[in-house]
Amino acid sequence: MDFSDFQKILYLSELDSRLADIEEELKDLKDSAVAVESAVLSAGKKALSADGEKEKLELEIKEAELSLMQAEERLSSRRASQNLIKDAQAAEKLEAEEKTLKAEIDALEEKVLLLMENRNKAEAEALSIKAELGKIEIQSRAELEKIKKSEAALLALKKEQEIERSKAANQCPQEILSRYEAVKKKKFPALAACILKDGKLFCSGCGIAVTASQADELKKGAGLINCMNCFRLIYVKR
Ligand SMILES: [Zn+2]
Repeated sequence: MDFSDFQKILYLSELDSRLADIEEELKDLKDSAVAVESAVLSAGKKALSADGEKEKLELEIKEAELSLMQAEERLSSRRASQNLIKDAQAAEKLEAEEKTLKAEIDALEEKVLLLMENRNKAEAEALSIKAELGKIEIQSRAELEKIKKSEAALLALKKEQEIERSKAANQCPQEILSRYEAVKKKKFPALAACILKDGKLFCSGCGIAVTASQADELKKGAGLINCMNCFRLIYVKR
């Protein structure tokens, strides 16, 4: 394999690495878009549950107010019947009932006040959560817009690189190209430069030492040979 063929396959491998980087960046962009969308979703859920809490308290207030009204009605009807009673024992019984009702009314009034206080707190909380949601929505729209632009730019770049890649592949001798493509299907990147350490050559793809006979071949100028361990096409930088 002459030097120029070697340069061609090296260039092809560089283009493949660039394409892989672009794919990686596209994937990262998709992941960030999903993260942005899920943040909006979870803020929306929070706002919904804050609204639910407020509505629950409003319902409880209505129930307590109804009980209060009923107790007040009972009290006033007891009072209306008071004048009709002549019997002392019955009058005493009625008085005791009135006392119980009054205590019940007091407790209910207190309950309504407490519930209203809680409802107001829940309302304020819901409002602040909604304001937060509004902010997140605006922010996320801007972020998604940015992501979309980056994605479009990357896709355009990818197209360019793919065209360049197919041109570069056409320049490579068929035999070397098929060997490269076969390795690439299993290992990426398919090319691995050898590293010289303590007088020995190591495959930079898998880190295993190159056999003595392969090292000889490489030193003699064999362009690309398969690593015995990882099968990558190894070479010595010239
Ligand atoms: Zn290897």
